[in-house]
Amino acid sequence: MKVAIIGGGITGLSALYELSKHPEVDAELFEASQMLGGKIRSYHREDFVVERGADSFLARKPELMALVSELGIEDQLVTNETGQAFILYNEELHPIPKPSSMGIPSSLKPLLSTSLLSTKGKMRASLDLVKPKAKLDEDVAAGQLFRYRFGDEMVDRLLEPLLSGIYAGSLNELSLESTLPQFKALATKHRSLIKASEAIQKKQPTAGTNTGQFRTFKNGLITVIEALEARLDQASIHKDHKLVSIERDGNQHRLSFENGHEEIADAVIMTVPQPVAATTFVEDGLSERLERLRGASVATVALAFRESDVSERADGTGFLVPKGNDTVIKAVTFVDKKWPTAVPDGYVLLRSFVGRPGQEEIVNESDDVIVEQVIKGLSKMLEINGIPLWYDVERWQEAMPTYTVGHKQRVQQWREAVNDTYPYVLLAGASYDGVGLPDCVRQGINATNQIVNQVKN
Ligand code: FAD
Repeated sequence: MKVAIIGGGITGLSALYELSKHPEVDAELFEASQMLGGKIRSYHREDFVVERGADSFLARKPELMALVSELGIEDQLVTNETGQAFILYNEELHPIPKPSSMGIPSSLKPLLSTSLLSTKGKMRASLDLVKPKAKLDEDVAAGQLFRYRFGDEMVDRLLEPLLSGIYAGSLNELSLESTLPQFKALATKHRSLIKASEAIQKKQPTAGTNTGQFRTFKNGLITVIEALEARLDQASIHKDHKLVSIERDGNQHRLSFENGHEEIADAVIMTVPQPVAATTFVEDGLSERLERLRGASVATVALAFRESDVSERADGTGFLVPKGNDTVIKAVTFVDKKWPTAVPDGYVLLRSFVGRPGQEEIVNESDDVIVEQVIKGLSKMLEINGIPLWYDVERWQEAMPTYTVGHKQRVQQWREAVNDTYPYVLLAGASYDGVGLPDCVRQGINATNQIVNQVKN
């Protein structure tokens, strides 16, 4: 059986790696660009490791850790330093209350002692402990549940900046079931989310310790992509192959690529973003029937300084900026503090994210304008005395899938619609069942299992 995998990001490569364990399947991967990795894009600049896309992954989701161990690259893993992170409010940096889980304090103590909320805001948030369970039979916006339990102040000042960056959208429209399923389950079981957060904390193997929850590699996330590429048969990977269309050809599929190449495959695993996949289906007007998944645009801006040129820095790993502040910056990581192995001694690396939902125009500006705006924003919080030694701007246009309310049902509808016309085309990757890197690996493996089961039957 011949299987074509479209897209050489972490989802596509995980699928190819899994299929390579099945000699009965002949699998080939087609990637539009000349590089594998998709939204994983690390490089070395002098003695710095710079991440232009994803920078780390959650260790507690097992799929990527298992792959790392199979590839034998565990010795290259690095764990994040667990310093304090902050939120900007009223021109001051306030520590994010700890202990907490996804921003939700695990007891009243951190909630009542935070400088981020007013007394009224704290009183309202404490009502979470006594308010009746929310009705969650259908999918709702995550913001709707959080506003009901904690009130607007805690959502606007703490939860929105923390969670809207990860899921690329406003909490008022993001699907609870698709972005924070654990909170949906816990809100149904525990009533109080503070109690739920306490339960999550107790279950974590690192609870009560200072061990970081994220991992990357000494030489950047690209290590896992390079290890996969090295393990795979080079003849099964085709770079510079941009898929343009898929047509049915009897029980098979005819794939046409921009470079003129054509390929016949029995099954196809599509791991490209959903709006790209939708345009390639030429049969039965299917493309027109598929609603396009919205993607948010962001830019990442890395600025390197001599340590002596940046002072009065809060002693922590970075900060988040809620909307309503007069800056284009959404979040800043002090890379030298969070990932010390990525930055040589005596230097500082500040990585900022710009472009928030509804205010994404900044991403289209020139590098010079973006860097100027970022330095202006940073200068309000830090004392910057020198000019950056170098900077790096990377734009991600419409690249962060926004899972709005009803996402899970829409994904099911897309899959059913595709399946009606193309029974052996599978949709997998960040547009569908989770954006985190371990979620993508899981989806690549699941697609593989479906195909292998089809071969058996
Ligand atoms: P992609 O990585 O998008 O790969 C799809 C591939 O398909 C690409 O290589 C693309 O070139 C190719 N392609 C596109 N069109 C075609 C075509 N027509 N024909 C052939 N090939 C095509 N997640 C985390 O877990 N941790 C993080 O720290 C993190 N940070 C992030 C920071 C940023 C700035 C961004 C943008 C994302 C971040 N994410 C993070 C999310 C995570 O990186 C992505 O969800 C994940 O990498 C997506 O993998 P994928 O393989 O599904 O898709």
